[in-house]
Amino acid sequence: MNTPVEALATVPMWIAGKPVVPAGARMGEVYNPATGAVARLVPYADAATVDAAVQAAAAALPAWRDAPPLRRARVMQKFLQLMQEHQKELAALATAEHGKTLPDALGSVQRGIEVIEFACGIPHLLKGEYSENVGSGVDCHTVRQPVGVCAGITPFNFPAMVPLWMFPVAIACGNTFMLKPSEKVPSCSVRMAELFRQAGLPDGVLNVVHGDKEAVDAILAHPGVSAVSFVGSTPIARHIYETCARNGKRVQALGGAKNHAVVLPDADIEFTADALIGAGYGSAGERCMAISAVVAVGAAADPLVALLKKKAEAIKIGAGTTEGVDMGPLVSAVHRDKVKGYVDLGVKEGARLVVDGREFVVKGHENGFFLGTTLFDNVKPAMGIYKDEIFGPVLIVLRVKTLEEAIALVNSNPYANGTAIFTESGGAARRFENEIQVGMVGVNVPIPVPVAYYSFGGWKNSLFGDLHVHGTEGVKFYTRTKVVTTRWPHQDTPAPGFNMPTLG
Ligand code: NAD
Repeated sequence: MNTPVEALATVPMWIAGKPVVPAGARMGEVYNPATGAVARLVPYADAATVDAAVQAAAAALPAWRDAPPLRRARVMQKFLQLMQEHQKELAALATAEHGKTLPDALGSVQRGIEVIEFACGIPHLLKGEYSENVGSGVDCHTVRQPVGVCAGITPFNFPAMVPLWMFPVAIACGNTFMLKPSEKVPSCSVRMAELFRQAGLPDGVLNVVHGDKEAVDAILAHPGVSAVSFVGSTPIARHIYETCARNGKRVQALGGAKNHAVVLPDADIEFTADALIGAGYGSAGERCMAISAVVAVGAAADPLVALLKKKAEAIKIGAGTTEGVDMGPLVSAVHRDKVKGYVDLGVKEGARLVVDGREFVVKGHENGFFLGTTLFDNVKPAMGIYKDEIFGPVLIVLRVKTLEEAIALVNSNPYANGTAIFTESGGAARRFENEIQVGMVGVNVPIPVPVAYYSFGGWKNSLFGDLHVHGTEGVKFYTRTKVVTTRWPHQDTPAPGFNMPTLG
């Protein structure tokens, strides 16, 4: 039974250290994907609300920018502690709005918390360089200064982790921040902002606005926003990148993916099949690093497909809160129907349907957004189910004859987020690692997500911009280098002359 609208809780925005529900705001619905019911409402920001958040961030900037990095790091340490204490609560919020299983949600919050751990040590990475006597009596040094008010726009599939890729790094570097999480999963971001305030973060340093295209367009147009980090689908990432470039903003825009796993005949097939099942169907395939295309080389194909079939059929599907469940529902009815449409398309295109998840129903959750696991074999590169990112529990197998053919196939795909090779051959793995044109590569590791002190990002249509997120590239993105050249008069050094100097 659906709750009457007036009884639903509203997820507020978070501006200048306070929860805010702007009067007369357009309201959106937040679903519980396991039941299909509307669970909460969320107000959508218009340009005026975005402006209020930017003003709050701008007002907080001078003091936060000039706070000693160690003082900022101490607030970060306290935030780290609170996040650890509230990890289960945040995971439960992610499960409630996204649908993924609780253990998976807990792991994703953990990966986000690791970025906070990294951010606690950022003072070390803010140090500049110094050279004495670059000219006679002339010294030179660099400083890394914050960029200003930064914005983050994030997708539905990691309600806590992807925002955590951004705001702890930006804030530790001395910036202030405005986060626009996915309107489908708004609660984690607001809860994290509350905890950060409790940790001692001054009001206005972190703000959260909700909304859709209207809010995003207001962020991209706002002259007070200096840098934008985006994670989401490729068409929107491209739009964000182009608009920010036009508007003179620093931008990193991470897009969609089609991640290939190349399986050589010498691979341990049981180990590989287990790895691919987790990477293909975990979180219902709604991970940007999910393996969605298996490239089986030569004799690997037949035994691999047989094992994948057996294991895909054995996956336990149910509500993310039910113990022992491997895979939850998809995020929305619209997305579930879109994924189902791709299974229809694959059949029409002539791929071999090995496991069909279209008619799957979870008893007691008939209105939930569930779909069973689907496996296709004999998929060809020209098919839509190969070319498009499906972002659901659909794994496809393409068959090739050689490693060269596999590498050429992966390199001709416009997406280039992650990839993996499964083999026992060091030579084959080294060649793959060297020749593959993809941002993150696994060797017998299906989801090679870098830890927080490395940087995360793809190539080609999976990332628009130059710098990846978190790690040292994140620090580069959220800081600007200034080079200072110094000479002090009355030191027996020549005064500046008319011509460019020829001697040091
Ligand atoms: P999405 O692109 O639909 O939405 C992402 C964000 O953009 C949301 O905050 C949304 O409100 C906003 N948005 C949506 N439409 C917009 C529009 N027309 N104009 C301006 N803003 C708009 O993505 P999603 O469905 O939330 O997330 C899934 C996608 O994200 C997948 O493609 C997945 O591969 C990708 N993703 C990529 C990474 C990565 O690291 N590369 C990580 C996670 C997710």
